[in-house]
Amino acid sequence: MDTTVIIGNGAAGTNAAAALRKNGYAGAIKLIGEEVALPYQRPPLSKTWLLGPDRPHPIPIRPLSFFEANRIELIRARKVVGIDRTARDIRFSDGKTTTFDTLILATGASPRRLDLPGGDLKGVRYLRNLGDSAGLRHALTDPDCRDVVIIGAGVIGLEVASAAIELAKTATVIESAARAMARVASPATTNFITQRLTEAGVRFLFNKKIQGFGASGCRVSSVSLGDGTVVKADLVLAGIGATPNVELAEAAGLDCDNGICVDQDMRTSDPKIFAIGDCASGDSKFAPGKLRIETVHNAITQAQIAAAAICARERPAPVAPRFWSDLKDMKVQAVGIAAGYDLVRSNASQHPPSLEVHLKCDDRLVATETVNLPNRQSALAKAISPVVLTDVR
Ligand SMILES: Cc1cc2nc3c(=O)[nH]c(=O)nc-3n(C[C@H](O)[C@H](O)[C@H](O)COP(=O)(O)OP(=O)(O)OC[C@H]3O[C@@H](n4cnc5c(N)ncnc54)[C@H](O)[C@@H]3O)c2cc1C
Repeated sequence: MDTTVIIGNGAAGTNAAAALRKNGYAGAIKLIGEEVALPYQRPPLSKTWLLGPDRPHPIPIRPLSFFEANRIELIRARKVVGIDRTARDIRFSDGKTTTFDTLILATGASPRRLDLPGGDLKGVRYLRNLGDSAGLRHALTDPDCRDVVIIGAGVIGLEVASAAIELAKTATVIESAARAMARVASPATTNFITQRLTEAGVRFLFNKKIQGFGASGCRVSSVSLGDGTVVKADLVLAGIGATPNVELAEAAGLDCDNGICVDQDMRTSDPKIFAIGDCASGDSKFAPGKLRIETVHNAITQAQIAAAAICARERPAPVAPRFWSDLKDMKVQAVGIAAGYDLVRSNASQHPPSLEVHLKCDDRLVATETVNLPNRQSALAKAISPVVLTDVR
């Protein structure tokens, strides 16, 4: 019987297994992950998990019964350490192997680490998985923790800053760029968000370089900046981006360039091996150049494309990338890629807070961003897709 092995059971891997069955795949499916928990959703880890009850439950991507009913062999708490492309097998850390006819790499990404003096002190934290979130929550709710410093004004950094002020801590966000969320959103949106978070008590320090960390014993006590400023810190969260988990792919000789290189069917440089989700990099129909997108929507979309290709089905119609974030009283949503635009139209209201931003290039709608306008999402997504597609194809 044909076997598809999926390495990584996050949003991409789990949805690929589900999509294979939906497309009528009759072979064996082995879904492998190194984490112990049932495949779970990551977005709550930087949102409700930090504020919720003492022992929050992870939200499963699918219930256990789903895997059983769909004959998906869920292999948990096992790390894959090697791929043999000639023998067509993968090797686990205990030396055991399992063969595949088709392999899907859905290995995700890992937080970028700080390489600075004192970066390994106690109290300097990262956020990617359940354990990280539980540890961060525990540290945030410690009554001795008063001053929280967040390094990086990306989405995760701002979500943790929102949680910190909600928990009555001081929150200072230190960012090397001139504004927040510079990689994923337009200045119109990030300025709106930054202003509201500042009013709520978050302190932003932009254009700052971190020099290192001060310590009290083996615990972090401050963050030193290049301009001589010292910021008191009982807890530091480094949210400075993530790097794709490409080690297995590289060691197997697959092409990698800021991610595992894939074609439009999510095939790697080996036609029997696919890569999807945070670890994959390829052309987008919505922006020029190679893109590696780190969102749940992208993980699900790419899982569906790979499953269709494996089952020799028609490739699903392209859909514009989307992401969302919850920041204090703001539901932030975006469709499209905020790059290469030359015109910004925005419509903001402060009471109640809401914002709609249109990003255009040569009068084409490239991307839209909204705050607290959830009902606008699908209409805006439809407005983007066909126009940009016609031009890019
Ligand atoms: C705290 C946080 C909040 C987020 N919030 C949002 C949000 O609000 N909206 C949004 O759209 N996106 C959000 N994201 C991003 C989103 O969660 C990711 O884009 C998505 O999880 C990517 O799915 P993935 O399956 O590619 O990777 P992952 O979810 O990282 O899954 C990969 C899995 O593979 C496993 N693995 C890796 N290597 C091996 C190996 N060798 N052997 C076995 N297992 C292996 C990993 O342990 C991991 O469990 C957030 C991410 C984080 C960390």
